[in-house]
This record gives sequence, C-alpha cells and structure tokens, in this order.
Amino acid sequence: MASESLKYDFSMNIEKNRRATFVDWPFDEDDGSKCTSDKMAEAGFYHSPTDRDPDVARCFVCFKELEGWEPEDDPWQEHKKHSPRCTFLLTKNKNSEDITIEEFLDIEVKRQENRVNKILQNSIKEFEDIAKTVRTEMEKLVH
Ligand SMILES: [Zn+2]
Repeated sequence: MASESLKYDFSMNIEKNRRATFVDWPFDEDDGSKCTSDKMAEAGFYHSPTDRDPDVARCFVCFKELEGWEPEDDPWQEHKKHSPRCTFLLTKNKNSEDITIEEFLDIEVKRQENRVNKILQNSIKEFEDIAKTVRTEMEKLVH
C-alpha cells in the first residue's frame, strides 16, 4: 500500500518544495488550466504519483489524496470539498510571510496526527485484506 510513501518530510511545509515535486504534471502545458503545479502547491498539494495513478496529489497537512484532475478543477475548491476541516485550509496566514509561530505549530501538530492516522488506516485495510484472503482459503478447505 501507500504507507511507505507517507514518510515524514519536513520540507513539504515550504510551498516552493511542494511545487518542485510536480514532475511531468500534465496541466502545466495548458495555459487555461486551473490546476497548474503552481496553484496545486499553493493549495497545499504535492505530487505523489503511483504506477496506477500518475496524477495523485496529496495535501501535506491532511494527507488527503486526490486524483483524476481535470484542467478546470480548482485545487482550493477540490481541497475544501474533499477535506473541509483541513488545518491548512483553516489557517489564515498559511502562504504568507506573516505566518505566526502558533499557526505554524498548529499545522505541524495536525500534520503529524493526520499522518499517523493515515498510516494506521492503511495498516488496518491491509490487515482486513489479508483476513479476507485467509477466510476465503479456509472456506475452500471446509467445503
Ligand atoms: Zn489538506
């Protein structure tokens, strides 16, 4: 699963570092696109492609992963729609020089909490998948 890609990366706090993760991002070519890597990074996303889904973007705070982007998708609106309580969205000075220590720490604490929860959920999902396979195999033996 994706747990190993959820490693802690402090540098994702910085918008410019998030922007740099977008490699071969299809929406940078298109002038009219609302989800260029600039706008994605500004809205808290970094690029986290998988073999199956090359356009997965993940929020560095809530760890929400979104894929299937279309040029008319606004990253702020998509973020709000799928993760309305994300601390990054709720922080006033998130992308400015005016961010306070309190705001920064608030984001950082939430980020750690969300990351641990996400890893836990992935592990539970993996365990359930294994349990299902085992059950199927056992039922084959019984019948
Ligand atoms: Zn978020």
